[in-house]
Amino acid sequence: MILNGETQVYGILGYPVKHSKSPMFQTAAFEALGINAVYVPFHVKPEDLKKAIDGIKALSIKGVNITVPHKEEVIKYVNEVSEEVKYIGAANTIKNIDGYLKAYNTDAYGFIRGLKELLQKAKKEIYELKFLVIGAGGASRAVVYGLLKEGAQKIYIANRTKERVEKLIKDFSSLNKFVKEIITPISLSEIDKFLDKTDVIINTTSVGLKEEDKPLFRYENLKKEHIVIDIIYKKTLLLKEAEKKGCLWQDGLPMLLYQGAKSFEIWTGKEAPIKIMEEILRK
Ligand code: NAP
Repeated sequence: MILNGETQVYGILGYPVKHSKSPMFQTAAFEALGINAVYVPFHVKPEDLKKAIDGIKALSIKGVNITVPHKEEVIKYVNEVSEEVKYIGAANTIKNIDGYLKAYNTDAYGFIRGLKELLQKAKKEIYELKFLVIGAGGASRAVVYGLLKEGAQKIYIANRTKERVEKLIKDFSSLNKFVKEIITPISLSEIDKFLDKTDVIINTTSVGLKEEDKPLFRYENLKKEHIVIDIIYKKTLLLKEAEKKGCLWQDGLPMLLYQGAKSFEIWTGKEAPIKIMEEILRK
């Protein structure tokens, strides 16, 4: 890669940001399409977020991804938010259009594209399945937004903090007038009881990231008919158990890949080189 006076700058804002895989696969995508651009990590402390966002305009940075812990806070500092950001309440992508910043959330798109790939293997469609989503944080809201947009008819949501699910239902009620019938809040301790009513189990909590994390329910109760997704980027205990039982399963890599691909397309208007991005990610 040769940098010159015309090299465009893209990046990711996070705290911490050093574990991010985005610089690798986004840079590979720019290279593959012969776009004169770099994608760099920006370590931004929460108290510096506003200054960093102003800096995007001042430095003519073309676009950025936003990661933990800034996804919600960043909405305050942009000029416009897309429809999905309004509902999800979090943004992970900003496009700088000559100093006008528009925020998007590509997590919902990323999740649904990964889910559809998995469901193809089971020859199933979203509308005919019952979902159990564990968690009600930012990632869960993106997942549930995507499921509702795709016509899911039943979603059980289990979260440690009940109020967060209640807020999610309230916020999504203008998206779909049947939201109160579609979504049923349950407690974490009720999960085992609901497994028989569920086809697809999705963990959107951070539980499973650390080896010592306690299971969210009795994983031995999984049946081989369950389709299991953990949006954490590795084979968690939940996924290991799903594999053991013979379930169809998926980790967080497809969601990560496709959300990144969508960000790339928003910034460049060009189709993302998925194969190359995936190759880098899997390395
Ligand atoms: P968040 O907004 O902080 O939400 C965290 C969720 O985890 C909440 O529902 C929280 O429950 C729950 N939780 C945390 N610790 C728990 C515990 N010990 N027991 C039970 N529940 C617990 O975080 P987020 O942004 O949604 O991210 C969640 C996970 O998704 C992270 O691991 C992140 O890396 C992953 N993620 C993956 C992708 C991808 O592309 N694959 C994209 C986005 C996020 P309470 O509400 O009770 O606190």
